[in-house]
Order: sequence, then C-alpha cells, then structure tokens
Amino acid sequence: MTGSIAEKTDQYVVHTYARAPFVLVYGDGMTVTDENGKQYLDFASGIAVNALGHNDAEIVAAVQEQVAQLSHICNLYYTAPQANLAEALCQCSFADKVYFCNSGGEAVEAAIKFARKYARSTVGPGKTGIVAFTGGFHGRTAGSLAITAREKYQAPFRPLMPGVSFAPFNDVAAAEKLIGPETCAVFVEPVQGEGGIHIATPEFLAALRDACDRFGALLVFDEIQCGMGRTGKLWAYEHTGVTPDMMAVAKALGGGLPIGATLVTERVAEVMQPGDHGSTFAGGPVICRAAEVVLKRVSQPELLAHVVTMGDLLKERLQELPSPHIQEVRGLGLMVGMELDIEATPLLNAGYEHGLLLLNAGPNVLRLLPPLVVDETHIDHLIATLNVILSEVDAA
Ligand SMILES: *Cc1c(COP(=O)(O)O)cnc(C)c1O
Repeated sequence: MTGSIAEKTDQYVVHTYARAPFVLVYGDGMTVTDENGKQYLDFASGIAVNALGHNDAEIVAAVQEQVAQLSHICNLYYTAPQANLAEALCQCSFADKVYFCNSGGEAVEAAIKFARKYARSTVGPGKTGIVAFTGGFHGRTAGSLAITAREKYQAPFRPLMPGVSFAPFNDVAAAEKLIGPETCAVFVEPVQGEGGIHIATPEFLAALRDACDRFGALLVFDEIQCGMGRTGKLWAYEHTGVTPDMMAVAKALGGGLPIGATLVTERVAEVMQPGDHGSTFAGGPVICRAAEVVLKRVSQPELLAHVVTMGDLLKERLQELPSPHIQEVRGLGLMVGMELDIEATPLLNAGYEHGLLLLNAGPNVLRLLPPLVVDETHIDHLIATLNVILSEVDAA
C-alpha cells in the first residue's frame, strides 16, 4: 500500500518536496497514524500549524457546522465569520484592520504591495526599496522569494523583483546603513524559523523601528511561524515592546486549514482601494470559523503559560542529552532549535523509524515545533527517543 501511494504521488505530483516514507491517514492530539497503524508522536505540527494538535473537537465542530451552512461565497458579499475573525485579530494585536488571504507567502505578498502603495501615496513613485535580512524566510511566491536571502531558492528564478537589499540579521549598524529615504519597507521575523531558530534582539527591532520612523518606511513583522502563541506570548513582538506597521500571520491561524492574514494599522489601510488587491477564496466562512476557535484558545493566559513552562522544560531536557554533537539549544517558548555538529537529516529519518516527527532548519539544526498542547509525558518520550537516536548515529 505505501508503495502504491508513494509511487502514484511521485508519478503524478510535481517533485517539489522530499517526503517521509510512509502514508499518514489519521491524527489525534499529539499523534498521527500511518496506513499500517504505526503511530508517530508529532513534534513538527505540520510545520507550526497544528497548534491545538490534530482533530481538535472544537475546530472540527465549528468547521462541520459552517461547511453545511455556507462554505464559499467570495468577497463580493459580507459574512459574519470574516467580520468576527477580523475584529478578534485587531482586538488582540496592534492592528486596526486585516487583509485576508490563503497562505503565508500571500500574506507577505500583500504586505509588499501595501508598502509600495503606501510609499507611492504618501511620498511618490521612487520610494520602492525593501530591506530584509540574512537567514530570513518569507515564502516562495515571486515577491516573497525576492525578499528571502537564500541563494539556493532564488538562483533558478532570476530576475527577481528589484529593489531588495539584505543586511546581516541582528546587525544594527548594517541595517541602519541600508535603510534610507528610498526604503518603503523593512521585513523581519522576530524569531527566524527556517533560518535556524534565531531570536531578534529587542535592540535590533527597536533600531529598525527608529530607522523606519526616520525615513517614513513601514516596519513589517513576519510572524507566520513565531506568532499565534508559539513563543509563549500571542505575538512574538510582545517580548520586545516594539510594534510593527504590518504583520504577516498564517500557519497556526487556521488550525490546519489554509489561511493567511496581513494585519495593518489604519494609515496603511487607508491607501488601499477596491481593486488594489484581492483573492477569490480569502476569508471564507469555513476557515474563518476555524481560525476564530484557534485564536480564542491560543490567546488564553493558561495556554500561553503552558507554552512557557513546556518550552523551558523542553530546552532544559535537550541540554541534558549526553551527546557530544549538541552545540547549542536555543529558542523561545515552543519554538526550539538544537544546533548539531552533524547533519540533522539522518536524525529525522531515524525519528520516522522510532515513531517521531521532527524537523530541521537548515542542514545542522534540529527544529522542534510541537503542538502547543504538548505535555511532560510527550517531552519525556521525545528525550528518551532522541537519546537512542543520537547513540545510533554514533554507532553507525
Ligand atoms: C512558512 C513561512 C512562510 C510562508 O508561508 P506559506 O504558507 O508556506 O506560503 C513565510 N514566512 C515564514 C516566517 C514562514 O515560516
């Protein structure tokens, strides 16, 4: 069976992913089950998506009710779920208004367009420069790829959107040199995910805020991975006291269904007119019902406190692992990276054999993004299994 599904996929689906050698059919809480009944403890959350675990009863009920009532109608009409979700997102953040879309890349893409229109409306057509940072990841669509400083991702697709320059992450002086009168926006992840779990210093974000204010540029936080409670606060920027003008959100927002959102302040929203941007599916009633449930649950102080406790425990236990290959354990809340002096991929593969879903972030960083509902018994199991895996790697 695995052979036939894998063969069919490889024959008919474009090869843009390296896939694990099993077929998943079912998920429940912290575990997923493959077609042979083998269970896997999930420390990946579908890349930071399943914040409440798999098949959460409240999400399932909201989706089932809405899909039977009105599943799609497009943005020519008003619907209550979209209005309610937009209100909830504004009430729990810096934002005054929300633009809905269907993915993280699209949320970044919208922020690029908003920044360009804002600069053109407030200053003129020459203010088009964008500054982003090394190690950042913002997506794979044309615009979001252009602001993602990774040669391997960009090279086959040049020429990319012009006007983008990159400074080293957390380097205040280098960023201040690049941000000037021609800059329309600065894009940064408060905690870099794909780039290896690197936390922006509060001084760095504050310096970006100052430079943006000095030159009338918009500061954009990409919280697609680090937002929605992942770091122990609802938004990662809350750790720093610096607020952005725009913020891209996606991944966990839908609890497993696809949604993106670009959160903006009123002065940014004001420049956008009907027809300037849009999407057929965006902000549909079913996904907005699901997202309302997720946002309500991950905003609860008890859950956020749980993320802090579990994140500290996870880091502590990883640090205690007796492997000489561990160089550093770092992270915020349940966004944790373990830097190794060996490749992470063999550990991921060994994890599959031992019933564990793990992620990497770059070649040498093992990345852990469990559902936020993870508990101590799951962490115990992870650590015991990693212990075995790390000694197997040495024996091989
Ligand atoms: C995943 C991710 C994106 C892209 O989101 P997609 O939904 O895959 O398009 C952008 N920025 C960050 C920080 C991400 O983690």
